[in-house]
Amino acid sequence: MASQEIERLAGALARLPGLGPRSARRAVLWLIKRRESALPALLEALATVQEALVECRTCGNVDTTDPCAICADPRRDPRSLCVVEDVADLWALDRAHLFTGRYHVLGGRLSALEGVRPEDLTIGKLLDRVGQGGIDEIVLAMNATLEGQTTAHYLAERLEAFPVRITQLAHGLPVGGELDYLDEGTLAQALRARRPVG
Ligand SMILES: [Zn+2]
Repeated sequence: MASQEIERLAGALARLPGLGPRSARRAVLWLIKRRESALPALLEALATVQEALVECRTCGNVDTTDPCAICADPRRDPRSLCVVEDVADLWALDRAHLFTGRYHVLGGRLSALEGVRPEDLTIGKLLDRVGQGGIDEIVLAMNATLEGQTTAHYLAERLEAFPVRITQLAHGLPVGGELDYLDEGTLAQALRARRPVG
C-alpha cells in the first residue's frame, strides 16, 4: 500500500496529458529513488514555470516576457501572420524555422461536440489585429482534423472583409510516407492538392 502522499502525487501526475495512473505511479517511484539527484532540478524548473511564464497579450504565446520574444523580434516580418490552434502548434512550426512572420494563437478550435464557439477563442482579437492594418498575408495553420478545417473555413469567411491574402497549409503526403500505408482522407487531400510537375 502506498502512502497518502505518494497517492496524491501520482494522482496529480496522472492528470498530465499522455500519462495514465500506471505510468504516473512509475514516475513517482522513479522520483523517489532519485530524490537527491533528480528532484531538486525538477522542483526548481516547476517553480520557475509558475513564477516566470506569462501569456503574450498580442499573440497568446507563452514566454517569460509580454510581448513575447517572437512579437518583440524586429527581424520577424510583421506583414505575415500565422494562425494556429494552440501554443504547442506555434512551437512546432517555429522549431522548423521556416516561417519568418508572427503568430496568433486561437486557444483551441471550434467544436459543436465540445461546445466551443467563436467567442470562446481569440477570434475577436485576431480580427482586431488584422483590422489595425499592416498585415498582407494570413496563413491558416489549423490541424488537418474535421474541427480544425471547420475553424479554418470559418476564419477564412470572417477575414474576407480585409484586404489580405489568406492561405492554408497544404495537406497531403507526409515525408517518407508510402501510398499504400496512407488513409483515404490523406490520399484524397494529396490528390486534390496536386500541382504541375517541373
Ligand atoms: Zn507574442
